[in-house]
Amino acid sequence: MVAYWDADQRCRFANRAYEKWFGVDPRTLVGKEMRELLGPLYALNLPYIEGVLRGEAQEFEREIPDPAGGAPRHSLAQYIPDVVDGQVRGFYVLVTDITRLKRAERALREAEHQLESSARLDALATLAAGIAHEINNPLAAILAHTELALESLSGLPATSEALATDLREARNNTLRVRDIVRSMRLLARGEAKRDEQVDVSDTLRGSIELVQPSLRYRARVVRELGAGLYVRGNASQLAQVFVNLLSNAAQALPEQPGRANEIRVSTRREGDLIVSEVSDNGCGIPRELQERVFEPFFTTKGVGAGMGLGLSISKSIIEALGGALSVASEPGRGSVFRIVLPAAPAAAPQASKPFALPASPRTSTPSLAVARPRVLVIDDELAVARTLERILARDCDVVIKNHGQDALALLGNEQEPAFDLVLCDLMMPEPSGQAIYEKVHEQRPELAERFVFITGGAFTAKGRQFLESVPVAVLEKPFDLARLRAVVAAYATKA
Ligand code: ADP
Repeated sequence: MVAYWDADQRCRFANRAYEKWFGVDPRTLVGKEMRELLGPLYALNLPYIEGVLRGEAQEFEREIPDPAGGAPRHSLAQYIPDVVDGQVRGFYVLVTDITRLKRAERALREAEHQLESSARLDALATLAAGIAHEINNPLAAILAHTELALESLSGLPATSEALATDLREARNNTLRVRDIVRSMRLLARGEAKRDEQVDVSDTLRGSIELVQPSLRYRARVVRELGAGLYVRGNASQLAQVFVNLLSNAAQALPEQPGRANEIRVSTRREGDLIVSEVSDNGCGIPRELQERVFEPFFTTKGVGAGMGLGLSISKSIIEALGGALSVASEPGRGSVFRIVLPAAPAAAPQASKPFALPASPRTSTPSLAVARPRVLVIDDELAVARTLERILARDCDVVIKNHGQDALALLGNEQEPAFDLVLCDLMMPEPSGQAIYEKVHEQRPELAERFVFITGGAFTAKGRQFLESVPVAVLEKPFDLARLRAVVAAYATKA
């Protein structure tokens, strides 16, 4: 818009653009007062008008409503004084539409913000994985020694019952630490497994079952679960996500009898996507927090009630599966959490490791086919190696190697009697577990088949790729006695 206004703020000239911006014919404007044209904007612009009439050029930005009811335009206005012989006779007005510029600026700021929060999340995930890894070694030792002590006690007279109770309490709490560490590790991006064909509706049904005890008296659960909806992933991880969303939904609902508390769970196909939603008509989430709820350790729940990890873990699981988790919430009315995942074809062969580790046996250890199996433990952390030795020494001959080089020298020695099992840490200073395995695989393939990797779980992307590419089982720290012994037994009987 281009115009000229005199010192009495009356229009002397206005171009055609005024028609578009204000919906007025510029010819009828001549002689009109600025106050009349601007309406409510006049009061806002007054300081600039007074400024330019004092002879000072003005520049400012303003949002101007669209007379046709569309989105407002962003404008950059310039007032230039018309000074003759030191007297201000009037001023020129130049208004430029900068709407597109503003939009681009906002998009850029949002992208920047997203980048920042994703960088922050990455840093947190790395930190969490690092801490988890460090805690896992001493944790493995504590857990194993507690179990060993419990085992020794079981042969003693009943006077030691109080001691056994203390130890069991210690073990249960150690197991809690293990679970916390596990959930922290899941924060590390991309740790989601994609090895199964998962029936989403089935998984949702199972998850509802799991949280049913806390749902039953809180809310009516409405299900809209389609048939034949499959994604690639891991059923227990997906169930973890659903359980999380369901428990959050239940906690968002007030305990008011007679109120129509409702949790709606649905899943359906939309093109190539499977869309699942968990919605509630509970307290909702204030707008300014709707993005923050996905941040690790963000919680509005009291001490001990929530760690604030649920949604951030859920998000990283879903994103690692190539999907997205988002929320739409109306404060005071409820929330809808939505998961979108790529659909998988209905039937596909199940991938399986050539030799799967046995699950923890509930009963006693299986008897061994080999009288005393020989086990090699390779771990740079002496405490872990010693713990393994302490657990296995009862039934096996255990050899410990702390350095990858020493282990390789031993494994390369043809005079050395064969090992039934090689428990090898994956993350070690060079040569790493991977390097040791590759070397052995090249030189003595029959021995490579005896490898089981032990890990604290903090995989790099490369490490994960490697684990997926080899037929080697993985044992996670901290291990429990029964499972470890079952693994040894399985290898001792493996021809
Ligand atoms: P936690 O449940 O341990 O607090 P989450 O990451 O699962 O951790 O959730 C983070 C926060 O998001 C919660 O503390 C709560 O404020 C908010 N939230 C999550 N789900 C809902 C929901 N369905 N309704 C209202 N608020 C929710």
